[in-house]
Amino acid sequence: MNPTIGILGGGQLARMMALAGYPLGFKFVFFDPSANACAGQVGRLITADYDNELALEEFCQQVDLVTLDFENVPVATVRQIAKKKPVFPSAEVLAIAQDRLLEKQFCHSIAVPTADFEPINGLSELKFAARKYDFSAILKTRRMGYDGKGQYLIRSEQDINQIPADVFDNDLILEKLVPFEREVSVIVVRTQSGDIKTWPLCENKHKDGILTTTMVPAKPHDLDEKAFEYAVKMAESLQYVGVMVVEFFQTTDRVLVNEFAPRVHNSGHWTIEGAHTSQFENHLRAGLDLPLGDTGMNGMAAMLNWIGAFPEKLHHLTDVGLYWHIYGKQARPGRKIGHATLTAADPQQLHDKILQLVNRLGVQL
Ligand code: AMP
Repeated sequence: MNPTIGILGGGQLARMMALAGYPLGFKFVFFDPSANACAGQVGRLITADYDNELALEEFCQQVDLVTLDFENVPVATVRQIAKKKPVFPSAEVLAIAQDRLLEKQFCHSIAVPTADFEPINGLSELKFAARKYDFSAILKTRRMGYDGKGQYLIRSEQDINQIPADVFDNDLILEKLVPFEREVSVIVVRTQSGDIKTWPLCENKHKDGILTTTMVPAKPHDLDEKAFEYAVKMAESLQYVGVMVVEFFQTTDRVLVNEFAPRVHNSGHWTIEGAHTSQFENHLRAGLDLPLGDTGMNGMAAMLNWIGAFPEKLHHLTDVGLYWHIYGKQARPGRKIGHATLTAADPQQLHDKILQLVNRLGVQL
């Protein structure tokens, strides 16, 4: 069996999926509006807009099944492709994941808790809802937001007055700020036949809304089982196929869903070297309904993102347990251009290795 897998979106996630799939004999074709999409360096890239019917037709003819590396691919595109080739995850799942309001309503429909929220239409609704949340809230666009984009922290009436007027042209949602102790994510994979597996719990740190580090396994906490229970419940309720990642806020007594990604995820990059089977490989296996690989790990792992620039000094490459990834993207402020994964036998060793690495590289985390 040598299927050709089509991937909508040709960024680093598509690239890492292909690099995981080549050893199994899979082939790949990427579809992306940008001719510079970095997956194009490792496979055939069709460059066209997502509504280009001719290009989509050509794409469909070349592939056996389709997945995506970007959750904001238009649902209409996915529906059109699904008439010709199987797509995972489905257009229905995508429609929910693309809209923060639908996502939260879905969670509530299956008794999975989230932050308190209100849909917002216009300034006066925002003022009313912000008062209700004691000016401890965050305004987000319902759609097209990621890595903290389209988000406005609201701590006072003045913060509201400073929001640009055109923000209100979007559908919006106001979320109550969650006083979380930590942010964790569960990577879950489910096959066509319904087999389900999860990787050890990931603990994530963000700066300016962008993931900077992931440590795995997260320090054990009584609430961890709840996070796994909710993630599995969500995947099963959605009849999900492939990898999905659920991000949680953990407070002293609760875990609340922040959002889910209908795709492989940055907080799962450590699985390439840190787990017996990576998120990328199991995602492909799930879509092809192959048996899933083991998701366990030996020891611990940490992932450090390179955002906007690489560290200048590169003489660390001989370190044992250090794995370096460069995505082949043009460096720009706020853009993820690579990552490093560190593996170690135990938490102390991992901690020491991270300190050593950041000192030698002269980077700040
Ligand atoms: P998001 O794009 O929704 O994942 O938000 C990016 C980051 O902003 C999150 O990882 C949190 O660190 C922070 N954040 C977002 N929503 C909330 C919230 N309701 N309460 C507290 N922090 C939040």
